[in-house]
Amino acid sequence: MQTPSQIISDIRATLPEGVRLVAISKFHPASMIEDAYAGGQRLFGESHVQELQQKHAALPRDIEWHFIGHLQTNKVRQIVPYVSLVHAVDSHRLLAEIDRRAAEAGRTVDCLLQLHVAMEETKFGFTPDELLAYMESGDWQGMRHARIRGLMCMASNVDDEGRIEHDFRLAEEMFHRLKADYFATDDGFCERSWGMSHDYPIAVRCGSTMVRIGSKIFGPRVY
Ligand SMILES: *Cc1c(COP(=O)(O)O)cnc(C)c1O
Repeated sequence: MQTPSQIISDIRATLPEGVRLVAISKFHPASMIEDAYAGGQRLFGESHVQELQQKHAALPRDIEWHFIGHLQTNKVRQIVPYVSLVHAVDSHRLLAEIDRRAAEAGRTVDCLLQLHVAMEETKFGFTPDELLAYMESGDWQGMRHARIRGLMCMASNVDDEGRIEHDFRLAEEMFHRLKADYFATDDGFCERSWGMSHDYPIAVRCGSTMVRIGSKIFGPRVY
């Protein structure tokens, strides 16, 4: 059986330059993260605040932590002192809270706006229309400590590769539209977080700059 670090290096070999691999370690023990770390992986993603708090405290300081799940505004304060990127910002309220708490902590936290493109119903993420309206409102401007770096999405949870590609293409189009209309002079707006264990090769074809891969590296999660 391959270890996490071996699998990571195999995946890495298939990723084009400029695509970062976020190892999604949620529900897996620190020992598995340590194996990946020993193989050189420094970027990990978690989706629960308490679990992230524990792992951050227990593991090496030079790990870069991303928060990938749905983040409640009342928990922002707990992770803002050390998390480097929040992937799934899905409301103005959350972005404003990250800005406020990051200011208190004296740092800047990178954020991605979560776009809902999948066919499953969910209350998380901006629909394309909601995202355009939010951009148009200008409410996001003027935040100095929460920095919008790009978009994040999940494709439909289906086997149909055509459908998955359609979802990622839509996200890619939205990214370029926002880039042209609102961030043309902001080099920091450049990230496209899409692609998971089962669909990251498609995501990479659709302009992903960050793939979030969990079970392929660490095995199935036991919830
Ligand atoms: C769990 C999770 C992943 C990783 O999923 P795998 O299928 O295990 O690769 C990626 N993104 C988000 C938002 C997740 O919650």
